[in-house]
Amino acid sequence: MRKKIIAGNWKMNKTPSEAVALVETLKPLVANDDVDVVFCVPAIDIIPCMEAAKGSNVNIGAENMYFEESGAYTGEISPAMLTDAGVKYVVLGHSERREYFAETDETVNRKVLKAFEHGITPIVCCGESLTQRKQGIYIEWIRMQIKIAFQNVTADQAKTAVIAYEPIWAIGTGETATADQAEEVCGAIRQCIREIYDEATAEAIRIQYGGSVNAGNATELFAKPDIDGGLVGGASLKPDFGKIVNYNK
Ligand code: 13P
Repeated sequence: MRKKIIAGNWKMNKTPSEAVALVETLKPLVANDDVDVVFCVPAIDIIPCMEAAKGSNVNIGAENMYFEESGAYTGEISPAMLTDAGVKYVVLGHSERREYFAETDETVNRKVLKAFEHGITPIVCCGESLTQRKQGIYIEWIRMQIKIAFQNVTADQAKTAVIAYEPIWAIGTGETATADQAEEVCGAIRQCIREIYDEATAEAIRIQYGGSVNAGNATELFAKPDIDGGLVGGASLKPDFGKIVNYNK
């Protein structure tokens, strides 16, 4: 039985002092040991949030990471900087990074490999645009994203990975994929992993849904057999996140 993983993606929100206050507010609301809880926060918020989350079930994760060890890469964050700060999860290849910061499937793959090298669990994002959905090519598109993101990743590594299926048309729009639509794609992703690796890897890997997840739709989404939790944007900044994490209570 896979343990659900429910992660907040704070995006470019919350100054360090605001971030600490939010961790303090949310900590008691997300105390559900049935699920892994992660707050993926802006880089500058990681250390103060780690401190604020101490002694709770909250993991603090990162929203991005570079694929080199160190050096002349102005503005980037290295894997060792994250591990030294205690980070165990990093969001990679979010559609906003692909759209505004020119990330490609290839750079996502390099980041995924580097994260594993450092013992950080990647939350690998994939998802189609509205046009691709209307054209009916979304499964094919997502299979391609997954195949490239997982190039040279071993089965043992893949077993520990998290994939987030986030249809771009559902991000920040209030338009959630229906539970059936989300399940269709999460099932197809699992099938793709089965084909690349084997049954054991497909059964172990955790696949989240993301895109306008809220307290009202989380229970139905997370009840689907191939949906192992969520990657939550807007609602992760509010007390509502507690209701999402306690979707099974
Ligand atoms: P929203 O939950 O705000 O739609 O954002 C989803 C997302 O992009 C999480 O990574």
